[in-house]
Amino acid sequence: MRNENEKLEMTAVHDVAQLISHYSLLISHFKEKHGFGAFCPKAVLFDMDGVIYDSMSNHSVSWHDAMKDFGLDMPYEGAYIYEGMRGVETIKTLARQQWNRELSDDEAQEMYAHKAKLFAQHCLLTPANIMPGIKTLMQQIKADGLKICVVTGSAQHALLDKLLIDFEGLLSEELIVTAFDVKHGKPNPEPYLMGMKKCGVEPWETIVVENAPLGVQAAVAARCMTIAVNTGPLPDKQLADKGANLIFPTMTALSNAWHGFIRGMSNEE
Ligand code: MG
Repeated sequence: MRNENEKLEMTAVHDVAQLISHYSLLISHFKEKHGFGAFCPKAVLFDMDGVIYDSMSNHSVSWHDAMKDFGLDMPYEGAYIYEGMRGVETIKTLARQQWNRELSDDEAQEMYAHKAKLFAQHCLLTPANIMPGIKTLMQQIKADGLKICVVTGSAQHALLDKLLIDFEGLLSEELIVTAFDVKHGKPNPEPYLMGMKKCGVEPWETIVVENAPLGVQAAVAARCMTIAVNTGPLPDKQLADKGANLIFPTMTALSNAWHGFIRGMSNEE
């Protein structure tokens, strides 16, 4: 996949026709893999942390510090590895691994509340910026007539409350799926299935944009065209291994490629 993407980056500079042809081939493979007769995108489902907001460094520090307060070790990189999973599930997983016991929902919830509090404090000190390129991309998608939905495992009011203000005219409240809406978080496909339901679309009409391995896993399990944007420290291979159809290094790179991707669809054989 990395080689594929290196090839994409090179062709983006040297040969637009070749790039469109490459997208066309990629879309054909996607259709073939899932047995879809067509791929006609009508909605793009965006993950939030690390995709819409440059918020992962705040998550990383608050996860590490909060778990340390309870005697659990959460390496800074852990936030990126577990990203997408519901917070209480991440805590239960850590407790299973390090304490060899099953936490009750109340215990895990109490610990998650502490993490959420630290995250909110970090966001006040170092506000999570809007990811460069995301607004331009959303404007392109809206201009192409596709719906935009947010599908996040987050239950962090600090960011959720900002979404509709920061993205006025691009996002709407009824097209946001959060941890409060689903029983099973990513990597279960439920959040993305819920997003598709809210948009009234099928998998062959859906593109997912994700930055996290578990988020990619969830989107692939929901049989969506899955575009990974690797905005964190993990190697691309971790996203490719979960089945990402395409990997871009930044949201701006995806925005630059968007029209070629859409044209690749109309050129598919
Ligand atoms: Mg994310």
